[in-house]
Amino acid sequence: MATVPATQDRAIAAFGERRLALVVACAGILLAGAAVLWGSRFSSVAAALPPALVSAAVVTMMVTAAIMRYFYRASNFPPHAFLGIAFACTGGLLVPYVFAILELASSPNAPAATGQLATWLWVGWHTVFIVLLGIYVWSEGFFTHRSLPCDRERKIVRTFAAGAVVIATVGVVLLLTCAQWLPTLQSASGTFTPTYRVIVQQIMLALCAGVCVMLIFRTGLNKTVHLWLAVVLVLFACEMFINGKVVQRSSVGWYIGLAEGLAWQSVLLVVLLRRANEQLVEFVSSNRSLSEATVRDALTGLLNRRGFDERFQEALADARMMRAPLALLALDLDNFKSYNDYFGHVAGDKALQAVAQAISGVTTRTRDVACRVGGEEFALVLPFTEESGAMTVAERVRAAVLQLRLAHAPDAALAILSVSIGVAVSDGTVDGTELYHRADQALYRAKRLGRNRIARHTPAPEAGVTTLRAV
Ligand code: GH3
Ligand code: MG
Ligand code: MG
Repeated sequence: MATVPATQDRAIAAFGERRLALVVACAGILLAGAAVLWGSRFSSVAAALPPALVSAAVVTMMVTAAIMRYFYRASNFPPHAFLGIAFACTGGLLVPYVFAILELASSPNAPAATGQLATWLWVGWHTVFIVLLGIYVWSEGFFTHRSLPCDRERKIVRTFAAGAVVIATVGVVLLLTCAQWLPTLQSASGTFTPTYRVIVQQIMLALCAGVCVMLIFRTGLNKTVHLWLAVVLVLFACEMFINGKVVQRSSVGWYIGLAEGLAWQSVLLVVLLRRANEQLVEFVSSNRSLSEATVRDALTGLLNRRGFDERFQEALADARMMRAPLALLALDLDNFKSYNDYFGHVAGDKALQAVAQAISGVTTRTRDVACRVGGEEFALVLPFTEESGAMTVAERVRAAVLQLRLAHAPDAALAILSVSIGVAVSDGTVDGTELYHRADQALYRAKRLGRNRIARHTPAPEAGVTTLRAV
């Protein structure tokens, strides 16, 4: 089923972008006006310029097609594929055209048939582009309002691509074999004949106007790609119009026609590259905030268990490498079940937030990390901290929680909310599991001895309890 791409909403053209598109379109129209006024003036001959520019156009169109292909893969929206096919087919048709104009540029005595072939190839790829663009615009409305199974959509895209390639190939083969029997559109000097001006040019301009009107009515030009496709169409029409005015190759009008052609062939690529880069930046930053969210506890804003595991492992590795001490404080709120039961879960959550703030307010070094590792359990990782320092921090945490003066449940050991803390310190040789186990054991001892106290890990039981004061 066609999924409207997640990025499409953000691709709504901003006011500044609309203004820029208008400026580019107006510049194209002004250039066309300049071609009418001064187009017949002569400039120096640059025979190699058209093949060079058209070769660049092949690359531009193929890269545009490749980007649209990735847009389609990301969005599964078939019109993106259709737009890519329009650019790919046109780029492919430019290849035989490059060979024809290279021959014209390299030998002044090139046969007239080559000129005739080049002109009809030129008409051919312009026609293919405008028709395929029309199909793309039509498909935008079709696939936005209809929801087809994914397989069916992929089949439609594949069939369309194959059909476009076959028709383009047959068209090139026919032109290669029959161009000399077709009406002459361009004289040897580069001037387009009345047949071009009266029939071909008018048909192309009508096609261009039709696609432009359809684009405006079907899309409203609200989105970046639609807005810039309208600019492409304006520049395309300007190129068609100017070519009808060209009096001779290498005249000012001829150069302006080349410039207009180059502009419409490359403008969408510039826009798509900018959009792709913006999306890349957005993706990287949203990826960063997503991975940041996975290690943060939503209630308290502290690191969660996963964040703790990561930072604890990093701190352990640093401690091991530098043979430095690392302290771990395991904290657990006292009788918090009673607090919850008595005051309710909402008050319990608020108390957890207040305690979290109190704990992180106590740490002063940037490397110290406060984490919520369980329901009412916290941990403090203190790199480069000896046991005496760890005991000082633990005492500050205990005091900070008491200073919140949160009235406790009547059946709690204390009248206000308190915390018990277990302290363990590694000299850089103890592994993470062991250090955590030691801090947990010390915490358990602090609980057993009456809560609201700090116990440090020590091989001799009961020897390490430092604070036995009740409030
Ligand atoms: P002790 O002093 O031995 O640690 O007793 P305790 O009641 O604190 O320990 P216990 O493990 O029995 O209960 C922990 C309680 O913490 C259970 C639950 O009511 C509460 N709790 C855990 N996570 C949350 C939470 O996210 N929000 C709230 N409001 N309460 C929580
Ligand atoms: Mg607990
Ligand atoms: Mg508890």
